[in-house]
Amino acid sequence: MSADSTRDEICVVCGKATEGNAGTAHLYHDGRRFALCCPMCVEMFQRAPARFASGEHRQTLVQQMLDEIKWRESGS
Ligand SMILES: [Zn+2]
Repeated sequence: MSADSTRDEICVVCGKATEGNAGTAHLYHDGRRFALCCPMCVEMFQRAPARFASGEHRQTLVQQMLDEIKWRESGS
């Protein structure tokens, strides 16, 4: 089992398989590597890396963030 393997990785934000995806990025948090499938997912991850890293239910987390973004944008 290799730590460098990128096979069977899934995007930590949206859960899509990242294998063969040209937009795939990897970020490190707390010494662990996380796969992100696209710039939007990278942005999401960067908003709350500790929460994604802690294994919170990602769909709940993403929904909360989207709600927060909408709320901020509509509040001007
Ligand atoms: Zn993704």
